[in-house]
Amino acid sequence: MDIASLTTRIAGEVILPDTFAYTELRSIFNQTSSPAIIVRVKNNEDIATAIQFAQDYQLKLAVRSGGHGLTGLATNDGGLVIDLSHLNQVEVLDPAEHLVRIGAGAKWGQAAEALAAHGLALSSGDTKSVGVGGLTLGGGIGWMVRKYGLTIDRLEAAEIVTATGDTVRVSAHEHPDLFWAIRGGGGNFGVVTSFDFRAQPVQAVVGGLITYDLTETESVLKKWAAFMRTAPEELSSTLVVFSGFGPQFPPQIMVYAYYAGGDQAAANAAIQPLLELGAVKSQDIQKKPYHTLLEEGRVRPAGIRMVSESGFIRTVSDDAVAAIATHFGQPGTPIIQVRSLGGAVARIRPHETAFAHRDSEAVFWSVKMIPADSAPEVVEGVRQETWQWLKPFASGAYVNFLSDASDPSVAAAYPPATYDRLAAVKALYDPDNVFNQNHNVRPVVGNYA
Ligand SMILES: Cc1cc2nc3c(=O)[nH]c(=O)nc-3n(C[C@H](O)[C@H](O)[C@H](O)COP(=O)(O)OP(=O)(O)OC[C@H]3O[C@@H](n4cnc5c(N)ncnc54)[C@H](O)[C@@H]3O)c2cc1C
Repeated sequence: MDIASLTTRIAGEVILPDTFAYTELRSIFNQTSSPAIIVRVKNNEDIATAIQFAQDYQLKLAVRSGGHGLTGLATNDGGLVIDLSHLNQVEVLDPAEHLVRIGAGAKWGQAAEALAAHGLALSSGDTKSVGVGGLTLGGGIGWMVRKYGLTIDRLEAAEIVTATGDTVRVSAHEHPDLFWAIRGGGGNFGVVTSFDFRAQPVQAVVGGLITYDLTETESVLKKWAAFMRTAPEELSSTLVVFSGFGPQFPPQIMVYAYYAGGDQAAANAAIQPLLELGAVKSQDIQKKPYHTLLEEGRVRPAGIRMVSESGFIRTVSDDAVAAIATHFGQPGTPIIQVRSLGGAVARIRPHETAFAHRDSEAVFWSVKMIPADSAPEVVEGVRQETWQWLKPFASGAYVNFLSDASDPSVAAAYPPATYDRLAAVKALYDPDNVFNQNHNVRPVVGNYA
């Protein structure tokens, strides 16, 4: 490999093994790996050069924004990684229209702080260190999801470097097929360098964490589900059946609730029923600046990786509640999140974006920690074992919550009509499947009108 020539053509950095930067960058949140080359790009030309270099030498090609992808496919062994962390600018394009441009390599904590300085916010996720690129391309389920929809529902345009190295701008009027595909279709179509969002003029929200004892799981979850069905859409909530994580984080039921709106009395009234689900152990409901809701993100303990599964739930039935109460919550069992959807998410029709699961009232996310060096069959066994109790109640999957990227998981994430359309867009923009380290959609020439 002519690495010397690559280095002269890259404005950013070419990072090789046995350097400090490499040690920092070789691994990501859920994966430890040894790529041959990491290119920390500075501009679109760097990206085009890196894509071509990977093709010339038939290297695996990974694309990384925040490195929090649960599949671990934002790194690899022996291949090339395009690291976008320098493309992290946050700009206000039009203050009156709340139009903002965020570099794909920014982290959501940084983006939220920068937007807050302008009195703006975007519903993204719950963790500061998650990247703008990966979260947005999968959908984005955040703390104001029921009021303002998924993160992609605020997306107006994006800039992408395609497999041929060309830069294209996508929007409802420019490459609308590609604009449709990147709103849920992940990293299949090129390297997205920046996103133009219409943000919301939100400064503070009211909410926090309410905890209950695990002995109350069944009744708390049942009442939570019934209440969220009729709750005002300003209120978004996640219920976590938390099986504990070391002595610092004891097992408990955690109900996060955030009201997106400035009216304190309305917020209090909306949240009150969530304080009456059982005997409250603790609560910290108060008015908070939006950007302070995002948590640092617990660092993955050394030697551990997450096996993560997901599915959408049309109705959180009593049977589903009973299954959760029976099989989860004890030490060693997976952590289960139930995130409320509905509201603005459901007002967009399933075919309007590549995120098609619009009609469910909630999404499950189960997470189990296992030794990082577990063999693939052990990982798969844990996934199946975890999921067997929730699978009967779930349909589809949220691509960003899946640690598995096999074809069945891709099929769960994209219903057949969505998949076929994604495959046709893929055939137009990446016919050789250059971008295949992802929940991969294979190119198939087709009609997607
Ligand atoms: C602690 C934690 C908390 C989370 N909380 C939430 C949450 O509240 N809501 C939610 O919706 N999700 C959440 N997620 C899931 C998260 O959205 C996904 O893991 C997402 O992929 C992370 O994005 P990233 O940029 O950090 O990841 P990366 O690992 O950098 O990227 C993941 C994949 O996306 C693709 N990709 C990334 N950037 C680009 C790009 N610019 N162009 C093309 N392809 C790209 C690549 O295929 C890459 O392998 C959470 C994950 C973790 C680990």
